[in-house]
Amino acid sequence: MQETYNFSAGPSVLPKPVLEKVQKELLSYQGQGMSVMEMSHRSSYFEEIIQQAEALFRQLMHIPDNYKVLFIQGGASLQFSMVPMNLLHTFRHAYYVNTGSWSEKAIHEAKKIGEVTILASSKEQQFTKIPTLESHTLKNNVDYLHITTNNTIEGTRYSTIPDTGEIPLVADMSSNILSEVYDVTKFGLIYAGAQKNIGPAGLTVVIVREDLLGYYQKDNPTMLNYETYSNSHSLYNTPPTFPIYVTRLVLEWLKDLGGVKVMEEINREKASLLYDFIDESALFVNRVEKESRSLMNIPFTTSSEELNKKFLEKAGSRGLVTLEGHRSTGGMRASIYNAMPLEGVQKLVECMKEFEMEHRLEVKHV
Ligand SMILES: *Cc1c(COP(=O)(O)O)cnc(C)c1O
Repeated sequence: MQETYNFSAGPSVLPKPVLEKVQKELLSYQGQGMSVMEMSHRSSYFEEIIQQAEALFRQLMHIPDNYKVLFIQGGASLQFSMVPMNLLHTFRHAYYVNTGSWSEKAIHEAKKIGEVTILASSKEQQFTKIPTLESHTLKNNVDYLHITTNNTIEGTRYSTIPDTGEIPLVADMSSNILSEVYDVTKFGLIYAGAQKNIGPAGLTVVIVREDLLGYYQKDNPTMLNYETYSNSHSLYNTPPTFPIYVTRLVLEWLKDLGGVKVMEEINREKASLLYDFIDESALFVNRVEKESRSLMNIPFTTSSEELNKKFLEKAGSRGLVTLEGHRSTGGMRASIYNAMPLEGVQKLVECMKEFEMEHRLEVKHV
């Protein structure tokens, strides 16, 4: 059977050894004659799973003790609301940086809760770069500053994390958490939907500095209060048990591989392979400014939708699948998250090279 390489932006590829372990343990977890899906979230078996998942996050990301790790449902999209609901308390005002469609959605929700100032935006450049932040212009009369560390649709990433001084930095890290080394102490709060670099859809991870908790409005729903999760070790109600179990296995896999630092080196190698080819190519282009290029999501296109379509067909016949660009951008996008092996990217580049040879006479320069 031909190997399939799944370049989906999310839900996305999971490490094969993890899926094999899930399959092996599916019918009887630790000899219990039942799957983790069927177990009580109060059982000692599940308690061990959730505790280990948290411990592995702490180890892999070097999360200090004064940060809580919370397991929540509702996706990163619910965090667009929970962040302002919990953190907009003193000034009821936040800074947001607009780097693409996920930032815009976060801004849209925050405006319903408090005042939002767009500190910087790359909208006029069609989000092909990360705008520069003038740290010295920041005023301290905001509750936080929100960024999106990796822009999944636009293919951009912050190559340096802005220094926000006293202002808590909040980051949507949905599409690049665990893909490169981050100093957690630079952030007040980090959130990420699991389905890109962590595990299956249904789980959202929130890492929050303790002193940012406790400002919650009493009449807000219990389930939208971070403290509900931090006081109960994310077991106030039934958590997404199976996604948490698979997440624990993914984190074990990452640890065995050597951790985030080793993962980052592999990710840089994978991304360079693709970018280097695209930059030399006369057919394929990536429009993102070099300094702002994502290591995880690489959009590219040929000079015509017709050629794009032909390329996608050729790639598909090689088992290189879900390479269609986002519906808002067209073209192609290769999402090369942690679980995408180097081999998958090599196969993709090979296929692009061949396609270029076959179609070089049709190339129209844009
Ligand atoms: C996918 C994604 C989201 C949305 O995640 P959901 O879990 O589907 O709500 C938000 N932000 C970024 C950066 C993403 O990549």
